[in-house]
Amino acid sequence: MSQNVPITVAHGDGIGPEIMEATLRIIQAAGAKIDIETIEIGEAVYNRGNNAGIEESAWESLRRTKVFLKAPITTPQGGGFKSLNVTTRKMLSLYANVRPFKAYSPYVETKYPDMDLVIVRENEEDLYAGIEHQQTDEVVQCLKLISRPGCERIVRYAFEYCRQYNRKKLTCFTKDNIMKQTDGLFHKVFDEIGAEYPDIEQEHWIVDIGAAKMSDTPEAFDVIVTLNLYGDILSDIAGQIAGSVGLAGSSNIGTSCAMFEAIHGSAPRRAGQNVANPSGLLQGAVLMLIHIGQHDVAQKVQNAWLRTLEDGVHTYDIYQEGQSTEKVGTKEFADAVIARLGQSPTKLKEVTYKPSSTSMQLGSYIRKAPAKKELKGIDVFVHSTELPTTLADKMLAVLPAGIKIDAISNRGIVVWPHSFPETFLTDHHRVRLFPTSGLLTHAKVAEILGNLATAGIDFIKTEHLCAFDGVNAFSSPQGK
Ligand code: NAD
Repeated sequence: MSQNVPITVAHGDGIGPEIMEATLRIIQAAGAKIDIETIEIGEAVYNRGNNAGIEESAWESLRRTKVFLKAPITTPQGGGFKSLNVTTRKMLSLYANVRPFKAYSPYVETKYPDMDLVIVRENEEDLYAGIEHQQTDEVVQCLKLISRPGCERIVRYAFEYCRQYNRKKLTCFTKDNIMKQTDGLFHKVFDEIGAEYPDIEQEHWIVDIGAAKMSDTPEAFDVIVTLNLYGDILSDIAGQIAGSVGLAGSSNIGTSCAMFEAIHGSAPRRAGQNVANPSGLLQGAVLMLIHIGQHDVAQKVQNAWLRTLEDGVHTYDIYQEGQSTEKVGTKEFADAVIARLGQSPTKLKEVTYKPSSTSMQLGSYIRKAPAKKELKGIDVFVHSTELPTTLADKMLAVLPAGIKIDAISNRGIVVWPHSFPETFLTDHHRVRLFPTSGLLTHAKVAEILGNLATAGIDFIKTEHLCAFDGVNAFSSPQGK
């Protein structure tokens, strides 16, 4: 029986087929024991009218092999096409996106020769849920959903990653000074789980100043764990300042499946010219080889690749006059790595990959007993171009007895009962209603909305204002 590990491979779009061909040639020459199943995803599938860019047979292969080496895909702009990357991560629940960034100075030019940073990005939640709506003529919204299980598993993964790979410090980036509920939950879970890892140094940065610090002094960080959007942006910055976005690979890890890729896209302008750097995808393939337990092959590939960089054999994106010895194309770069298989770098640090004697202790989510939930009020969002005073008068005339307007806000800022004439008004108002005593009920909410409908008030959505175990779990409008 074959001892090969079945893997699913997609050659992708743009530069994808060229860098995949180079990557597969290198890892097979190094002795990777894999059986390749090729699937077609991306542009060709989108162009057949499938707006997800992937067909049923491809899912079947992915769910069976559970290991996916994927070249970049072009997401068609506009109209109804869904990002295949986001879909794959979410369908297969690949919750942890791990992106290592390392400087290879002086062979790859960088201002940060000591940079050696890993970004662990939450991969399924946040604004990437893609729940967007136009609510009024002037206002659109994107829902930011953050869950406790989502936070717990990514934060625990990051701490376990630190232990597994002997990393000393984990930094959490959030914007919880503004988003106290969503980013606040991520930070809270970081502190809670962090208490179980006293051996790992821990810190939290507000993401704006943290990003500035990372761009200026990346060597101050070891491993960073953060939410989806911040992780996406930070990792492109980290790739760029380490030397080239063409050099970094990433793994997308789930509880049963994993996907490996380059961090860059399909660079369509470079396609078909044999110029693209295959290193990012090759780095993804090295992470894959480690994941499937072929540490010896991964080590052989990585040391040959480091030797190639050190020998100055460079693709155009990292070529530097005086440092590089040869400017090569994609195929020739692969040939150069293959010719060095079995060799080690002499100036860059040689790598040693060994199976770990311990496995990550990721556990499974344990749902807590439900909190005591009380419905204290409701936000009714209204599409209206009337002045807040007019809207308030209209609503007060029809609200059931015992319901009062607490405040009206516009884009989060209070505009009733008091306002500044300078405050700009859109056509999207949030009317906060509370009972004059006691709690609200679902039946009362239905009565409120019924009355508003009869009065012709265009309510567009509601949000319940709840307290969980006695703690109010909603933000106050600004200026209140
Ligand atoms: P990109 O990463 O494809 O390219 C940006 C620029 O970076 C290129 O023009 C090129 O100069 C350089 N570059 C990128 N990879 C390189 C490589 N391997 N070698 C040499 N130079 C390289 O970003 P983009 O132009 O914004 O996106 C192009 C397409 O890729 C879009 O359709 C986008 O949706 C898609 N995309 C896919 C993925 C993915 O599949 N994981 C990720 C990001 C973007």
